[in-house]
Amino acid sequence: MSVLAGAEWSYQKYKFFGLSLSGIRTAIAMPDLSLAFDVAQGYPYLLNLKRFFISHGHLDHAAGIPYIISQKAMTGQPTAQFYMPTSLVEPMDQIMKTWERIEQHQYKYEFIPVRADDEFQLNAQTYVKVFPTQHRVESYGYTVFETHKKLKPEYHNLTKEEIVELRRKRIEVSDIHHTPLVSFTGDTQIEFLDSRPWIRQSKVLFLEATYLDDRKSIERARQWGHTHLDEILPRLTEIQSEQIVLIHVSSRYSDQEARRIISSRVPAEFHDRVVLFPGR
Ligand SMILES: [Zn+2]
Ligand SMILES: [Zn+2]
Repeated sequence: MSVLAGAEWSYQKYKFFGLSLSGIRTAIAMPDLSLAFDVAQGYPYLLNLKRFFISHGHLDHAAGIPYIISQKAMTGQPTAQFYMPTSLVEPMDQIMKTWERIEQHQYKYEFIPVRADDEFQLNAQTYVKVFPTQHRVESYGYTVFETHKKLKPEYHNLTKEEIVELRRKRIEVSDIHHTPLVSFTGDTQIEFLDSRPWIRQSKVLFLEATYLDDRKSIERARQWGHTHLDEILPRLTEIQSEQIVLIHVSSRYSDQEARRIISSRVPAEFHDRVVLFPGR
């Protein structure tokens, strides 16, 4: 693993490349959909993606925005789209204008303000939906949804010919199902979990867990707008995700130590579902 490529982790056919370490860097790329959640300092594994969903403006999550824009210009790539909290758009635009002055070069970029429940279409079957999170500054999480057409239950017993006949009469025989595939939280207090029902239903949930044991109290974690493992453990039964991927773990825990604490504190029945993201 290196900062050039990020660490790889996968779920079914989807690959993720990323790094996440509290206060230092967080950027998780999903190359299949040409997007990333947060950009850390703008690592090479992010530079060819089209869309960037920024959770909030702290430097460990968003510092890479100007660098990615400049690298895209240098390699002649199309304008990148950065989705971000509304309050971040104007200051980020000022930063770009300042950098344009320094470099005496004009950059192309698109900063798209987001609000809770906004939806952004990625392709015919996939879109991203925004959910609110609770941090020290305006912050959001993002969910990738997949849509599938499924035959309505009342038509399940029909033959192929009968279905074709219904279609010919322009009768809608199928429903569209929306599946929350991946949710990403950025930095947040645990309350985000109750803000929208689909978060807990996401197949994969990237969940910040900055503190893992009593070296920091829940109270201190909350004071800084973060989540403590002690707050996650009692919620595990209600989270329906097939994979709960812990990110943003504090650098006070070594990789080995973090794994040891997680495996000793997470009940055995959840060991297959709760994992530490491999890149830090
Ligand atoms: Zn952070
Ligand atoms: Zn933060």
